[in-house]
Amino acid sequence: MLGLEYAKQLDQKDPLASYKAEFYLPSDGIYLDGNSLGLLSKRAEQALLQSLEDWKKNGIDGWTEGAEPWFYFSEKLGKMSAPLIGAKEGEVVVTGSISVNLHQMLSTFYKPDGKRTKILADELAFPTDIYAVKSQLALKGMDTQENLKLIKSKDGHTLDEDDIITEMTSDVALILLPSVLYRSGQLLDMKKLTAAAHERGIIIGFDLAHSMGAVPHELHDWGVDFAVWCNYKYLNNGPGGVGGLFVHQKHFGKAPGLAGWFGSDKNKQFDMEHQFSPSEHAGAYQIGTPHVLSAAPLLGSLSLFEEVGIKAIREKSLALTQFLMELLEQEKLHEVFTMINPKENERRGGHVALQHEEAARICKALKENKIIPDFRSPNIIRLAPIAFYTSYEDVWKFVQTLKKIMDEKTYEKFENTRNVVA
Ligand SMILES: *Cc1c(COP(=O)(O)O)cnc(C)c1O
Repeated sequence: MLGLEYAKQLDQKDPLASYKAEFYLPSDGIYLDGNSLGLLSKRAEQALLQSLEDWKKNGIDGWTEGAEPWFYFSEKLGKMSAPLIGAKEGEVVVTGSISVNLHQMLSTFYKPDGKRTKILADELAFPTDIYAVKSQLALKGMDTQENLKLIKSKDGHTLDEDDIITEMTSDVALILLPSVLYRSGQLLDMKKLTAAAHERGIIIGFDLAHSMGAVPHELHDWGVDFAVWCNYKYLNNGPGGVGGLFVHQKHFGKAPGLAGWFGSDKNKQFDMEHQFSPSEHAGAYQIGTPHVLSAAPLLGSLSLFEEVGIKAIREKSLALTQFLMELLEQEKLHEVFTMINPKENERRGGHVALQHEEAARICKALKENKIIPDFRSPNIIRLAPIAFYTSYEDVWKFVQTLKKIMDEKTYEKFENTRNVVA
């Protein structure tokens, strides 16, 4: 029997337990939605305030003076992010958002050539990824029906790596896949998929939205061509916080599809020439002036990741989701919900996903009990216990509350519809 005492013991032994005090937890609740919007840390708050201070004191000179000169800020944050994805210095820059960076990467790497014209993605992909792919196909004058190949899921929740590899046919020019599927939380074998793509002469890139800051990566060693992510989920950079991109060193010098002056070689940028001289690094794929105030919190947040290391974060994250799954089973909730996330550690990202017809209103009942879950239409509840700020006791309390809600059917007083943002 896994009880409250046991949860408390796990917290006592947890080397990351002290980090909870570094975060602001909304209204003393249990926050399980850090995979949609991570919470504010005191360090992130401090870093944002510092950037305002630099502006206050320096005005335009803040670009080159002050605590963090803004002119070099995106590259500095990129360098600090690199260990989270196993990148070399210069392969990462903090810029844009997933949607914008996808457009940048697709316009740079998608080069239909002869019979190789197709983009391979999956039918479970996040909508914005598919919108970006379709508009990039259209911009290249390609028929979007014919040239977008979507890998099918057998169970509606997960993908089989061997099915993906089977679809890597000689007409495929580029592959875009998630590292972790946003609904089921399945972690794909990026190393295997990259090797298979390259054996077939295909460019491959990943959307790391649900693995960045949760799972270690070895993007450089695996040879991944490009990757994009946001920093407002597990990286706790705040609402709409600036995202990031990775371009493998072997592609340095490749002309950006969407050129802008902040992609310039820094020494030449202010020469104001009409001839674009791109940076020799991933910085070349930036477009316009960096959104400094929306990147500043990341400096504080990344200092937490630097201190702890992604390995320790992954270990605790796996232990938390494992504990959650065990408790759900102990309370027989696995008979009430369908658990759609993979159970194996090497195939599971940072969240557990439960399917239930009444999911929308079960989430409302949880919120009434100060527990913040994440709802994905039409019927999925995502639960992300976060290594930095979720305790084992929180997980235990969550499961007890869920059990009560299901036993007493208190969710029935709410409507089973999603809110505008869900
Ligand atoms: C969150 C998320 C996005 C969001 O894209 P933005 O451009 O940052 O709004 C895109 N793709 C996936 C897989 C996501 O989970």
